[in-house]
Amino acid sequence: MERLKQIILAKGKVLSNTVLKVDAFLNHQIDPSLMEEIGKEFADRFADAGITKILTLESSGIAPAVMAGLVLKVPVVFARKRKSLTLTEHLYSAQVHSFTKQETNEISISQSFITQDDTVLIIDDFLANGQAVFGLIDILKQAKATIAGIGIVIEKSFQDGGKSIRNAGYRVESLARIAHLSDGNVTFLEEEN
Ligand code: 5GP
Repeated sequence: MERLKQIILAKGKVLSNTVLKVDAFLNHQIDPSLMEEIGKEFADRFADAGITKILTLESSGIAPAVMAGLVLKVPVVFARKRKSLTLTEHLYSAQVHSFTKQETNEISISQSFITQDDTVLIIDDFLANGQAVFGLIDILKQAKATIAGIGIVIEKSFQDGGKSIRNAGYRVESLARIAHLSDGNVTFLEEEN
């Protein structure tokens, strides 16, 4: 997605050879107009997939997921990372090791919001080693839901997640694919240019 790539180049900060900071438009301050375009793009790519729900992970997946849900006219469920006083029983849960925080979280959703009748699109902000997506897949398998595919805003293609998830047979649609981060620069995959 050309506009997304231009914003990554203009406003993203390369923190190291593996971490890109996008606090200016996605992870802290949010650019609603960009999110709207991202939502439309995901909705377009999965238009014929029969999606009935979108599943994401709090908190940075929520903005793009809600925008896609608005266009597809389906509810958006976000898995929670913290135990909540109101989210106590009848849960589907999975363990997810966070790439950026270097800690393992249990993520959970209420069993009432996704069932075996659902066809689900997973959406997340970044794809690195795939831990977050595999955690969400684990939850959907527990719910016996159909997994239509995975929509990612920024895939770091030099890390293993994209390959592992595609090798496991899932459709992955990433709006920007980064070939490498080095010396403060972002290089996108050839096919994306
Ligand atoms: P994975 O689970 O695929 O290893 O990592 C994906 C998760 O880690 C995303 O949900 C995202 O929150 C976070 N993440 C991974 N890499 C980056 C990065 O380079 N920048 C930012 N801002 N978040 C990242």
